[in-house]
Amino acid sequence: MPNEITLTIDGIPVTAKPGQTVIQAAMDAGIYVPYLCYWPGMKPYGACRMCVVEVDGQRGTPASCTLPAAPGMVVKSTTPLVKELRQGILELLLSEHPHGCLTCHRIELCGPQDICLRHVRVTDRCVVCPKNERCELKDTVRFVNMDLETPLAYNYRNLPVETRDPFYDRDYNLCIVCARCVRVCEEIRADDAIGMVDRSGTVLVGTSRGTSLLESGCEFCGACVDVCPVGALVERRYKWEKAVKTVTSTCTHCPVGCQVKLEVDARDRVIRSVGDWSAPANQGQLCFKGKFGMDFVNHRERLKTPLVRRHGVLEEASWEEALDLLAGRLPDYRGGAYAMLVSHRTTNEDAYLAQRFARTVMDTNNVDVASNTRPELLLSLRDSLGTLAGTGTLQDLEQARSVLVVNSNTTEDHNVAAVPLKKASKAGTLKIVVVDAREVELTRYAEVWLRPYPGTEATLIAGLLRAIVDEGLQDDDFIAANCEGWDDLVRSLQAFPLSSVQDLTGVPAEQMEQAARLLASNRPGGILYALDNVPADQRTGLLQGLIDLALATGNVGVPGSGLFPLLPGTNEQGAWDVGCVPGFLPGHVPMSDVEGRDLFESAWSSRLPQMPGLGVNDLFQAVLDGRVKAVQIVGDSPALDEAALHALSKAELLVVHDLFLSDLAQHADLVLPLVAFAEQEGTYTSLDRRVQLLRQAVLPKGESQPLGWVLREVTQRMGAWGFSFERPSEVFDQVAAMVPFYGGISHQRLDGLAGGLQWPCPADNHPGTPHLHADAAYVHTARFTALHATPRLTPPREFPLLYAPGRVLAQPDEDVAVVQTNGHNTLDRETMVELNASDAQAFGVRDGDLLDVVTPLSRVRGRARVNGGLRGVVATTALFGELATDLQTSEAPDPALRVPGLDVVPARLEKASG
Ligand code: SF4
Repeated sequence: MPNEITLTIDGIPVTAKPGQTVIQAAMDAGIYVPYLCYWPGMKPYGACRMCVVEVDGQRGTPASCTLPAAPGMVVKSTTPLVKELRQGILELLLSEHPHGCLTCHRIELCGPQDICLRHVRVTDRCVVCPKNERCELKDTVRFVNMDLETPLAYNYRNLPVETRDPFYDRDYNLCIVCARCVRVCEEIRADDAIGMVDRSGTVLVGTSRGTSLLESGCEFCGACVDVCPVGALVERRYKWEKAVKTVTSTCTHCPVGCQVKLEVDARDRVIRSVGDWSAPANQGQLCFKGKFGMDFVNHRERLKTPLVRRHGVLEEASWEEALDLLAGRLPDYRGGAYAMLVSHRTTNEDAYLAQRFARTVMDTNNVDVASNTRPELLLSLRDSLGTLAGTGTLQDLEQARSVLVVNSNTTEDHNVAAVPLKKASKAGTLKIVVVDAREVELTRYAEVWLRPYPGTEATLIAGLLRAIVDEGLQDDDFIAANCEGWDDLVRSLQAFPLSSVQDLTGVPAEQMEQAARLLASNRPGGILYALDNVPADQRTGLLQGLIDLALATGNVGVPGSGLFPLLPGTNEQGAWDVGCVPGFLPGHVPMSDVEGRDLFESAWSSRLPQMPGLGVNDLFQAVLDGRVKAVQIVGDSPALDEAALHALSKAELLVVHDLFLSDLAQHADLVLPLVAFAEQEGTYTSLDRRVQLLRQAVLPKGESQPLGWVLREVTQRMGAWGFSFERPSEVFDQVAAMVPFYGGISHQRLDGLAGGLQWPCPADNHPGTPHLHADAAYVHTARFTALHATPRLTPPREFPLLYAPGRVLAQPDEDVAVVQTNGHNTLDRETMVELNASDAQAFGVRDGDLLDVVTPLSRVRGRARVNGGLRGVVATTALFGELATDLQTSEAPDPALRVPGLDVVPARLEKASG
């Protein structure tokens, strides 16, 4: 088969790739063929027939979206016949679509923002269509040059506009039944929340049983809204506002690295966020946070000026005063008495400056990113594979044949990372194995769900390895070529006969064998893992087991394979890369590496501190102990719970950079207003090593400033050298000069790329590295780690059960009711408390009893559901839809953030009345 097909479209020679349709070839060549149901990235549908063409030598007028491009084809998209057909189709569409926006005699006079309420019916005014001047139907009518001098009559469907579900309105009076929304939900998101349904004798879009979206399994990703060509589906917030510009940036809510097109209105507000279909990181997809969780940027409670505590009260101050105060007080805390914590949203550039400031100006290694509460996620990869990062590319997992997901609620915490898995699973090409004591959404897509007793996951993974070795399913060629330590691993597996693993984990041996066969024989395969519910002392063992499993099955270095540590923080990977962690300098150079330290000391003309630094896990106790007395912290962090806030409030000097007067900021001596992600330039590095740009979309609110600017101003006052950068791109250039695997990356280069660059990218002409350990230049001998059995957790007598909180997408109908609160649908349901029948008997609980699950820190009420769950474990469920309503109704200025991944806690049950 030739690699290129040459054809002619409207007299222009065009080349197409094999498998492309004519419309795709035309679009790639910059030739516009009108369409309404087609959408790049979705399967051809051929329903609207707007894209009809004529082809020399062929009869009829085929739809170009379903017509394969063929060599020598001569295509004509503008013939009189084609034009006539299109006009006829549009007439039919307009016979059911209000279109005063096309026929009003003031069209030439009115600007997009003008309001005219004369001469037309209420349903027909352009100003009552939220897509006015953003409508593809209107654009198509204009392109086809329809004669609308004589207004066409139309039938108004008179359907009520659905305005009660979270985030977006549905007006099916405007729907043209292109089915893009249904197809994106089904084909791309694999969710099936909506479909084509019969509504009063007309086939229209809706939920299958006419329920609310909350009941239909909707994830509120907004993909349907983004592809709707008309005003049928529209974001409710800023519904009527028109954008004056669109700026592509990187989502700030998690480390998947989705690219967002931020629409900005004339008042300099971010009014919409739309997934970028050209971006490899998310291929047009977002989650409810990236789509609907950006309004915090515009929030009127944003801090606008610095605040200084005077006589116990925070009062507005000038930057001059705030900076003088900071520069005057910091020198008292040089050395171990000072610590800096950046936010998980801090850019690479600011994180680099923060660690350099801590080390060279404040003489301490006490610097970290506040979400780095599970450093084992990356350290284990360094120990076994030599690189502090996951090995693959998330979106490539659509090519995987098997995926293992371990203790991660991926759909909730890293939503778009689950999209390729769900899509491929639905297509039947991918088999998913889930290891989790909780029910999570991906368990519904799983071929095998292994449900171990919490805290025994490491033993379970050892059991899977044992099953692979027992059946000789390992990839011997890969192991021989790339790994060392195999014999030690195999010896250590002698301690894991499946019968013992079954006793310890509660997972039947046959299920382990089934999962092992599935993972070993369906390659390539990926492993995604968080550490939710894994006790701290068992994390390293679990991670070693997972790396061993990837190596034993040869699942490193090829597309569709890899290890994916699902980091909690948005730019946590970047913070490690630029040295904003206690134990490592930029480029992952350990503080203990004398030669590496020398290089930085000479580049920075400064001695580096010798004392090991404190990270976020140790900092708060150190403040309480009085070892750390001054803390400078970039707020808006998920790690700051009540205990952390209490500890930080005891610091002698607390400096907080934040967007809002948060709980943390209220304890501060000095509060410095911080820019939001949409107000600054910089870069984030995703969890699959993709360095991408943040572009400034709107101006900073009030006098807010980025961390890097503050450090520049403070160091000038402190007489320190090396911080006088004018722009983040200059800082990045310094990072690239000092971190070899960032060496070929620059803001300028990234600006021209839709997909960013995945490190290692050592040179200006290097294309980046989608898969670590595939390129000879980066091969490291992988090391298997011998595994050790871990005992089952023993809960204390007063809390005899283990509590595994879970979240699922939907519940059986009888458990859920949708009620209206202030005109909006919210879920009214009782939490289900799942427990094993023998535990129920032991604690005198019957199915349906009202219970309180009491932990040392919390109390959750729910209705008992006695089932075949794990003995000794109590689980509660919550609904994914609640995340959406929580986000919509939250009073918090930045509600998209929550602490990801709860840890397993002991619990007891108490009967409740009601
Ligand atoms: Fe943003 Fe993560 Fe959601 Fe993507 S998956 S839109 S990066 S929060």
